[in-house]
Amino acid sequence: MNKPRTFAIVGGGLAGFTAYATLRHGGLEPDEIAVFGTDSDPAAAWRRRAASIRQRRMRSESDGHCYPTSFPGLAVREAMRRRTPAPLVQTIFDWYNPTVDDFLEHVAALRERSGWDASFVHARVNRVRSVEGGFDLAGHGVFRHVLLAPGHPGLALPPELAEDGRIVHAYEPHDYADHVAVVGAGMAAATEWVNALAAGSSVVSVRRREPERRPLNVPREVFTRRGLAAFHARTPAERGALLRSWLGPSYPPGRNWDEPIEQAAGAGRFRVAAEVDGAEQIVCATGFLRGYQHDPLLARLVAENGLETVDGWIVLAPDSTVPALTDADRTLAVAGVPGQLAFPAADTLAGAKYAGRRFLNRVRRWRTR
Ligand SMILES: Cc1cc2nc3c(=O)[nH]c(=O)nc-3n(C[C@H](O)[C@H](O)[C@H](O)COP(=O)(O)OP(=O)(O)OC[C@H]3O[C@@H](n4cnc5c(N)ncnc54)[C@H](O)[C@@H]3O)c2cc1C
Repeated sequence: MNKPRTFAIVGGGLAGFTAYATLRHGGLEPDEIAVFGTDSDPAAAWRRRAASIRQRRMRSESDGHCYPTSFPGLAVREAMRRRTPAPLVQTIFDWYNPTVDDFLEHVAALRERSGWDASFVHARVNRVRSVEGGFDLAGHGVFRHVLLAPGHPGLALPPELAEDGRIVHAYEPHDYADHVAVVGAGMAAATEWVNALAAGSSVVSVRRREPERRPLNVPREVFTRRGLAAFHARTPAERGALLRSWLGPSYPPGRNWDEPIEQAAGAGRFRVAAEVDGAEQIVCATGFLRGYQHDPLLARLVAENGLETVDGWIVLAPDSTVPALTDADRTLAVAGVPGQLAFPAADTLAGAKYAGRRFLNRVRRWRTR
């Protein structure tokens, strides 16, 4: 009979995978960890979305990979392949954005090397129940230390367009009609303006708010120790309000975005409007549903344990754990987008590392008691 495992990760996407690589790097063996997921390829969900918006380069910078340590990252691979030090120089200054192809190759190689497939259990976990000595994962066993990484709870569509036969979500595969309306004004929308224009379409950008221009999806200072400490010093309600203000539409500055749009606007092929008008196709670059209540596993966890929440987020300790269900003997932690109250950029690869490293720290403290 297999020995019971102590550590579980629920959710086999990029956040769960990055945490897994961190645990393995920290000395845990594949037969000590169970990863529950719906697809054994950790990039499966991400690949489809990135391919749908024809993403070629990662938005994340030097830390945008799944290795447990931040450096050297993916720049070394590219420098060796292209026989140039340029990517290495760029990565030192945080200017390096790897290609999507390089990133996916890296995920495949790390999957192979890390023992991921030996730990992976093809199953959806429907309930996490607090029990003596850990957490019962409804039919899948009891684990002492559990990291929840369920990802986004689904795609968001504007309710008024939900029944409109012309819509396609930007994160679902699609081509472009001659006259396209793109709803939204964030990174996915900007990518879709440029894609549709490159395909020869005319574009109406339908937006409620003007986008901010910044390289990352949250202000850079919250990636720093000091910025994060200031965030953690605030009350949960204040943290929630800050997050709401940061998570408005934004996309990076730069000529690659501006030039095609300015040229198309000059030629009458791009304009901003309040309504979708008579477009043949409506591309909804409207992101994901927001809030734990849209995820059945998290909604049940909150309801059954009376967990504190703020505006759709579970209130977490700075180390991404659920305070009411974590002590020296057991851990319940959250990674990925539902972990934003601990780390505002939780829904990035850097955020996945943040949660994974703190989970590993708890495991280490427990082991050496
Ligand atoms: C188009 C796009 C581009 C992005 N580009 C970047 C980038 O360049 N850099 C960066 O840092 N970040 C980027 N991100 C953000 C982030 O890295 C991705 O969203 C990433 O996929 C998040 O990983 P995740 O594991 O949280 O979620 P996912 O990758 O969605 O994985 C979650 C997995 O958990 C499974 N699951 C859910 N609930 C359960 C359950 N109860 N039991 C078992 N399994 C479950 C799901 O089926 C899914 O397989 C991008 C996001 C998008 C959408």
